[in-house]
Amino acid sequence: MNNKEIFLCSISNIESGGCSEDCKFCTQSNRYKTDIEKYKNKDIKLIVSEAKILNAKGALGFCLVTAGKGLNDRKLKYVSQVAEQLKKELPDLNLIACNGTATVEQLRILKNSGIDSYNHNLETSENFYSEICTTHSWTERYETCQNVKTAGLNLCTGGIIGLGETEQDRESFFNELLSLNPNSIPINFYHPNNALPIAPTTLKIDDGLAIIKKIREKFNGRIMIAGGRESFFGNNDWKIFESGANSIVIGNYLTTKGIGADRDIEMLNRLDLKIATKCK
Ligand code: SF4
Repeated sequence: MNNKEIFLCSISNIESGGCSEDCKFCTQSNRYKTDIEKYKNKDIKLIVSEAKILNAKGALGFCLVTAGKGLNDRKLKYVSQVAEQLKKELPDLNLIACNGTATVEQLRILKNSGIDSYNHNLETSENFYSEICTTHSWTERYETCQNVKTAGLNLCTGGIIGLGETEQDRESFFNELLSLNPNSIPINFYHPNNALPIAPTTLKIDDGLAIIKKIREKFNGRIMIAGGRESFFGNNDWKIFESGANSIVIGNYLTTKGIGADRDIEMLNRLDLKIATKCK
């Protein structure tokens, strides 16, 4: 058995779509005519049942994602209620919240309701950010990441590869991520959609693998390959582990379907990789 442990994480889109921001990679922005399901306040019983299914498949983490720029009082109350219920029913599940920009005070409220980690992505380098979003700044994103640490939550911050950024932008982006000393770096590969203004990436699978290797050279912690794993790497996604990834998302993503947890678990078994049983 290989000693390397792979951490499985999972996501629930608990509020989907209708965002007024203009992030050019995001199907949940209402600026683009994407064909996604839109809803607010997913039923808490449904969220708990999703968490139970994914936890039984081996997911140690469960991320509560809401669309929109950031937390407000209504959203904070709702996410806190969901977290409290989940902690009651699945006390060992690592709960991650991903609800956009947030103040230290809001993050402390989430922590008190049972949230363990907060995910807020820088998305790309400071220099390139204005090319992919004009309605809020990269600095606001960076500040929320700092707030996460001040509030005493684990920080999960990463971004998206393949938005048209240069190699230099990626280099700056990785250094900016590292300056935050995150617990986990989630890396997504852009999932093209005809309704979005960003064209499909020209990066090839080997480029993607080299990018993961580059992050691994700089970072000892958890590197999670999240959205776009299946669409970018196809059946070569097993190679991400050789390149240094040690975490994946199982189940579905925010607005796209995953390949299915059973297939991923079968892949890890075939590679003789151990599935982590504790979220350190
Ligand atoms: S703020 Fe979040 S939900 Fe809104 S468009 Fe940007 S990435 Fe999408």
